[in-house]
Amino acid sequence: MKEWTIIGGGIQGCTIANYLLKSKRTTVENLAIIDPNHSPLSTWNRCTSQIEMPFLRSPSIHHIDIDPFSLEKFAKSKEGKQYADFYGPYDRPSLSLFNHHCESIFEDIQLSRSWITGTVNQVKRKMSQWDITLASGQQFKSQKVVLAMGLSDHPYWPEWAQNIKEMGANIHHIFERHQAKPLDEQDDVVVIGGGISAVHTVIKLAKNHRGKIKLISRHPFRVFPFDSDPGWLGPKYMRKFQKIKCYETRRQMIVKARHRGSMPNELKVKVNKLQKKNKIEILFGDIKDVTFVQNELRVELESKTIQAQQILLATGFHSTAPGMPWLQSTIQEEQLRCATCGYPIVSADSLQWGEQLFVTGALSELEVGPVARNLSGARRAALKIVGH
Ligand SMILES: Cc1cc2nc3c(=O)[nH]c(=O)nc-3n(C[C@H](O)[C@H](O)[C@H](O)COP(=O)(O)OP(=O)(O)OC[C@H]3O[C@@H](n4cnc5c(N)ncnc54)[C@H](O)[C@@H]3O)c2cc1C
Repeated sequence: MKEWTIIGGGIQGCTIANYLLKSKRTTVENLAIIDPNHSPLSTWNRCTSQIEMPFLRSPSIHHIDIDPFSLEKFAKSKEGKQYADFYGPYDRPSLSLFNHHCESIFEDIQLSRSWITGTVNQVKRKMSQWDITLASGQQFKSQKVVLAMGLSDHPYWPEWAQNIKEMGANIHHIFERHQAKPLDEQDDVVVIGGGISAVHTVIKLAKNHRGKIKLISRHPFRVFPFDSDPGWLGPKYMRKFQKIKCYETRRQMIVKARHRGSMPNELKVKVNKLQKKNKIEILFGDIKDVTFVQNELRVELESKTIQAQQILLATGFHSTAPGMPWLQSTIQEEQLRCATCGYPIVSADSLQWGEQLFVTGALSELEVGPVARNLSGARRAALKIVGH
């Protein structure tokens, strides 16, 4: 029997694992971290490398370790200084530095000894423990469970995009597990989306793609340094949020607080420069229709129609709570509370949804607030769970 089992080995799952081990709440032998991938942060690595994001959007004090200055110390260490690279006034770390810092932590805590490759499809309470079943049929027991499934496995496809995919069009989502077939270098490509991932994608394509590259955003560029106001990192906004007892109001506050489809200024400057150099074309407006005839895609905007051989969607992720289909029986048997948005209602102090059943990341956002899905949210959630 395990003391703690974490379901999901992404940023959120690995952060809580690190906190539990370093604060001596458990040991590697008594901890299990379950994820369908063979190594930690696989989904993070896939998404961030796919768009060739050079720097994180968040500052250097946001990472998966306990000490806020851990990443900065790593950057100065013998092991880390070869990767030391920061951007801008908030010391945003390079992706390479961030990833090496994570790897050094995993080695330090020997996370691989707790790792189980598999997909959980049932969590069932038996007396004072949880029975966990994997899709492979494998079963084991745990005293405590942390649900850390994220949203990055569920790319969002608009309805029109699904329709033309079924017709055989060359259309892909940038965060799909199965990568798009490589572009013919002469092909014209349209990237759909107006946020940071769309912009990273066109910057990447512009490096060596010879066909035309067009970016279609349905709104003008929204420029914000972070994806929500830094006031949400502390009591400035969180005090008011936590006082609100109505979860619908909390959800509205989260939606309003998030700068969806936004980007830091340097990326806006970069894409505008690329447009000036005629490397890319940027179009703003709603898509009226998309057709696929004789291997040619036609994207109709109000002002013009664009032809292309491939469409890349940078339309983000589904916003529905992760894991809900397989958690239904647990929710019913344990009478776990959900808000009307479908997300868990959990305890404020320790993020417990049921007895010894904790949540982190997206699943904790009605308590942790708009930053819940990010690195800062992972740290806040881990502190609460470990403090329990
Ligand atoms: C391109 C990109 C850049 C970002 N940059 C930043 C940044 O700079 N700063 C910041 O703070 N945030 C950033 N974020 C936001 C956020 O930190 C990341 O999305 C982060 O990866 C979310 O982590 P997660 O653990 O919640 O989810 P995921 O990365 O989705 O990991 C969850 C894991 O759980 C697994 N899982 C799901 N269901 C099951 C199951 N039933 N059984 C077992 N395992 C399961 C999944 O396969 C996955 O491996 C970025 C996000 C993206 C996409």
